[in-house]
Order: sequence, then C-alpha cells, then structure tokens
Amino acid sequence: MKPERVIELSDPAIGLQGFVVIHTTAPGPAFGGCRVIGYDSPESCRADAIRLAEAMTYKFLINGMPGGGGKIAVMRGAIRDRRAVMHAIGDAIEALDGSYYSGPDSGLTPVDLAAIAERTSHVATEDLGPAAADGVVHAIRATAEHCGVALDGMRTAIQGLGAVGLPVASALIKAGGRVVGADVDAAARARAKSAGVELIEPGRLLHQTCELWSPCGLGGVLNRSSARRLDCKTVVGAANNQLADGDAVGILHARGIVFVPDFLANSGAAIRGAWRQLRGTPGTDDEVAAIYDTTLRLLRDADRLGRPPWDVAMDQMRQALAERARPRR
Ligand code: NAD
Repeated sequence: MKPERVIELSDPAIGLQGFVVIHTTAPGPAFGGCRVIGYDSPESCRADAIRLAEAMTYKFLINGMPGGGGKIAVMRGAIRDRRAVMHAIGDAIEALDGSYYSGPDSGLTPVDLAAIAERTSHVATEDLGPAAADGVVHAIRATAEHCGVALDGMRTAIQGLGAVGLPVASALIKAGGRVVGADVDAAARARAKSAGVELIEPGRLLHQTCELWSPCGLGGVLNRSSARRLDCKTVVGAANNQLADGDAVGILHARGIVFVPDFLANSGAAIRGAWRQLRGTPGTDDEVAAIYDTTLRLLRDADRLGRPPWDVAMDQMRQALAERARPRR
C-alpha cells in the first residue's frame, strides 16, 4: 500500500535531509519514531522510512489498536548543526497537528529528543526499550510453548545485545536458558558478558544450533541464504523489518522453522508509547503481555491453515486495512 504522505525535510544550511512518512491515519493518528543513521543516499533514507512506517501500522493493527504507522528517517552524514536539525524536525511534527506522533529510534539521543520536544509536544521522550524487550519475551514464551520447547534449557542465539537484545537475553538466562550472542559494539559485549551471555563472533551466529534465533540488531537479516543456513526451530526478535527478501518466509516454513512476524514480536514499545498519546496513560504491562496470546493465536491459525505465520498475519493486515479504508456510515 502506498503511504498516505511522504514529506521531504531539506535544509542544506543546517544539513537536514530526511523524510517524514505517514503510512496511514485510517485507523487513528500515526505513530513511529525518528531514526538518524548513516544512509548512503536520500533514496535509501526515503525507502527505509516508508518500510518502517508500514511496519508501524501493522504493530497497531495486529494488537487491535486505533493507530496508524509513521516514521521519520534522517541522514546522519548530512547533519551540520544537530540542534537546529532537531528543532526543524520538531517543527515538522508540530505542523502535522496531531496526525503524527514521533519518538525515539536508532541514532536519536536523549539530547536530540529533548530538542525536538522544545518545538512539539507530539513526541514521546520516554525510553520504550524495556517495553519492547518485555514484548519480545512474551512472543518467545508463546512460540516456545507452541513448539513444545521448554524455556528451561532452551538454547538461544541473539544478534545485537543493545537496549532490547540484552534484557531479552537476561530474561532467557533467568528462565534457565543458555544464550550465545554477538554484537559489533565492544561496550555492548562487555555488558552482555556480565549478564551471562556467551559471546561469539558476529559471523558465527548464523551457524549456531539452537532452538531460538533472535535478531535484535538491525533489520534485513532474513534472506534466501540465511533462511537456508539457520539451524534453529524458531526466529523471534526485536529488529524491525527482518525480512530482506520475501522468499525467506517460504524457505523457513518449508524447513519447519517458525518465524514470528517482527511487527508482532517487537510491538511492546508501540503499545506502551501510543496508548499514552491516545488515552493519556501508557500501555500497561498486561497490554504488552497480550502479545503472548496474539502470538499463540497467530501460530495456531497458521498451523491450522498449513501456511507461514507471516503470510497469515499479512492477510489479516490487508483485511484490517481494507475495513478501515471503507467509508464510515
Ligand atoms: P540498540 O542500538 O540499543 O541495540 C542494537 C545493538 O545491535 C547494538 O548494540 C549494535 O551494536 C548491535 N548490532 C547492530 N548490527 C549488528 C550486527 N550485524 N551484528 C551484531 N550486532 C549488531 O537498539 P535497540 O533499541 O536494542 O533496538 C534493536 C532493534 O529492535 C532495532 O532494529 C530496533 O529498530 C528494534 N526495535 C527497538 C525498539 C525500542 O523501543 N528500542 C522497539 C521496537 C523495535
């Protein structure tokens, strides 16, 4: 589905180059964070914002929430005056007059968020990482139960041990699991080691024999080659847009590997953050924990239909969007 709005943010004087994308406001106002990373071109920045905004829509639809998806992506390499860029982003959010709410995402610091918040109240400044991690753990619990795997003794390989990956690893270790992990950042590795994660080289992660493979770094990790190589029973992780290649879905399914859609597994942050804007109080622990039931329901539906959970969820998303697009009487 084409995004409802794509707004280019461009101001060479301060080094602002980016995009605000509103995927849809049909279910309700759009929500999605602001990402500031090293894109190699404006086209890749725009494409990333479009993909991420669409995934945000699915996070709300799959949880039955009245929100749509949005996203801001900004080219880090272009920035000349970071504070001025953040103010311009705040002004752009404010101009959307409550049809879009932003928040943290990769590469945005608390100082950046505070600068954006000087210009608009339509931005979440709280750390949503813990809620994201809780949601991933609920999805993992449901998947393990569905696949007859006990958390006690479960072997997990985690890619990315940051704000979400590390608490997920800690929860699994606490439940009696064994966790191997990799991170490209030395400080993240040191924290993970203290938490009991067995560290391995990032390049060896795909070869780990495990029950759960959990992508918690950047997206785009599932392609034909990785889907053929993974030696696990399930894939459940925090990373947004894990699929680099739609064929990976069929390959994983044919190999008997259960892949839980990322937009479901990582929706805890969206639930926590969006409810605060929608009703004035943040999403509760119970609302985040409902990811467990939603995951179990999806996996049972997929089994009944003999189809990959991804395909079943996408059919549900298309139907939900079509229903919301119909004129209301
Ligand atoms: P983070 O930056 O705190 O952690 C990501 C970690 O992954 C970093 O330590 C980084 O060094 C590591 N990493 C990146 N590429 C890697 C690679 N190829 N191999 C090994 N390690 C790698 O980010 P986060 O907040 O933990 O988010 C992780 C993922 O979850 C991202 O894709 C993010 O978009 C998604 N997500 C985050 C939230 C949230 O609220 N934080 C919510 C939903 C989804």
